[in-house]
Amino acid sequence: KMENKIKTLEQGKKIYPEVKFLTYKDRKRILVTGGAGFVGSHLVDRLMMQGHEVTVVDNFFTGRKRNVEHWVGHENFELLHHDIVNPLYIEVDQIYHLASPASPPNYMYNPIKTLKTNTLGTINMLGLAKRVRARLLLASTSEVYGDPEIHPQNEDYWGHVNPIGPRACYDEGKRVAETMCYAYEKQENVEVRVARIFNTFGPRMHMNDGRVVSNFILQALQNESITVYGEGEQTRSFQYVSDLVDGLLALMNSNYSLPVNLGNPDEHSIMEFARIIRSLVGGESEIIKNPAKEDDPRRRKPDISRAQKYLNWQPQVPLLIGLNKTIDYFLNELRRSRHSERN
Ligand code: NAD
Ligand code: UDP
Ligand code: UDP
Repeated sequence: KMENKIKTLEQGKKIYPEVKFLTYKDRKRILVTGGAGFVGSHLVDRLMMQGHEVTVVDNFFTGRKRNVEHWVGHENFELLHHDIVNPLYIEVDQIYHLASPASPPNYMYNPIKTLKTNTLGTINMLGLAKRVRARLLLASTSEVYGDPEIHPQNEDYWGHVNPIGPRACYDEGKRVAETMCYAYEKQENVEVRVARIFNTFGPRMHMNDGRVVSNFILQALQNESITVYGEGEQTRSFQYVSDLVDGLLALMNSNYSLPVNLGNPDEHSIMEFARIIRSLVGGESEIIKNPAKEDDPRRRKPDISRAQKYLNWQPQVPLLIGLNKTIDYFLNELRRSRHSERN
């Protein structure tokens, strides 16, 4: 329904999505780092519609202005082109810290930058939170559990990560980002929230970011072979982006400061997943097996009892409904890119 509300330029005059009026007392100044990315831009939509003042900080490495352009010019909205590896001095009440490449090809493209963003960038955001007494929510990841030895994963599990493998820049970067949050909480009384996010999908995922959902949908839509890495017996659990946004808001505004898993426990093997997407799209794509990826976690499924208990949160959107919305989105993106090629 959000997508329908978002109308932009009409006869030269910008029409913004409707935002709620909040009194000064209830209105918060909220920073979203990585707010021009996939998850960040959906979070920004929700915070703006709730009537808050939102500042997005993004270096546009994987994010796009287009994801938030429907807010540009709105009096409650500000977009800063800034790299969080550098210090940032602004005044805010809450910080949603999402800036970091998230898909394996993106974070492996420049592992040193991924490390800098997650370490120096997180220190800067914690330093900012400390100075202005803001609460900070870190977008951590299920990757902190690595290739897990327990199933499903609960928050007390310490993880099984190869510190020198190809995924380490991201996994270890997020692990130390969590460590930093609790060090600033303990030593400097910074209020922190840590969301361990499991695989999430939906509109505004990047076309070419190489994640399984976007790859399979695009391959199926274009009648190309669907590329399963390895035997396809590895499993993942996929959450629709609006459920994640609900969870992030609930966590930020809760009194619970330990890490919380946010994900959908509906687990599928990657082979099953390829078949589901092919049947939803309805093409003739062949499913082929490519070489397995190094250190690819074999199983992943969140134990969400903590989120249920402390946030009263659980995912609402069934896989097939979320997938259909995402397929529609990619169909439009393909049309759009073909259109711009022609012109
Ligand atoms: P994304 O790549 O779409 O968004 C990340 C955003 O951060 C982009 O807009 C990018 O330009 C920005 N960014 C990266 N480095 C930056 C820097 N140094 N300075 C400023 N901005 C920078 O990814 P996403 O899927 O929206 O992920 C958002 C957050 O959620 C990430 O922290 C990611 O680790 C976490 N997460 C996502 C998933 C998922 O399945 N999508 C799963 C687990 C965790
Ligand atoms: N920092 C920032 N914005 C602020 C305050 C701090 O970006 O509003 C950065 C600052 O550059 C510092 C980091 O956050 O390197 C950590 O801050 P902290 O106060 O913990 O460290 P210190 O400045 O004492 O080294
Ligand atoms: N995968 C696949 N084919 C693809 C892309 C990914 O089989 O074209 C597999 C990948 O090896 C992993 C799973 O799908 O086992 C999820 O990959 P993704 O990169 O989306 O996220 P991850 O959970 O590995 O971070």
